[in-house]
Amino acid sequence: MKILLVEDDPLIGHGIRTALTDANHNLEWIKDGAQAIAAIQSADYDAILLDLGLPNVDGTEVLRQLRQARHSESVIIITARDGLDDRIKGLDLGADDYLVKPFAISELQARLRAVARRKTDTASPALQTSALKLDPNTGMVEVHGEAVQLSAREFALLEALMRRAGQVFNREQLESKVYSIDDDIASNAIEVLIHALRKKLGKEAIKNIRGLGWMVPN
Ligand code: CA
Repeated sequence: MKILLVEDDPLIGHGIRTALTDANHNLEWIKDGAQAIAAIQSADYDAILLDLGLPNVDGTEVLRQLRQARHSESVIIITARDGLDDRIKGLDLGADDYLVKPFAISELQARLRAVARRKTDTASPALQTSALKLDPNTGMVEVHGEAVQLSAREFALLEALMRRAGQVFNREQLESKVYSIDDDIASNAIEVLIHALRKKLGKEAIKNIRGLGWMVPN
């Protein structure tokens, strides 16, 4: 899962980052509420782990703005505030779950699995163009009816392009779909992925629009 962690406590943040990265999640860590709002506006996350007491913008305000902007990411509030009022406020604002510090990492992982399951239950149908079919729920990709195997990043890139088939994406937009801010991204990383995808899907599968970016034709 691509997860955004918003937590200003370095000790708790490091602990969560280590555990979730070890469990193969793609984790981005931000320590400030204002930066969290900016990150959520520019990238898609599967889940957001949100502390309430944050510098600059409070966690409840981050959540309020996110739901107001109709972002549908799963949000798990992680906070030391165990007051009933805060808990109710968080859930009223659209949090999916709530964890009170200190908590065991195994419990956090169980909650993440639960929100992922709920998300799959309401998951979007398979994406289809005249040549390609991609199922975000199962990871299946077909070219003219023939199954192909993609790496996780190739899949993420193709999914982003197919969600808006016919629309041109530039390099920055595609990087934000495939990588997190913490990743060390080579300047030609997207070209390398596109090259690999074309090898597997055929040259026509992804079009390069010179000077603008790339698109998957409808
Ligand atoms: Ca805090």
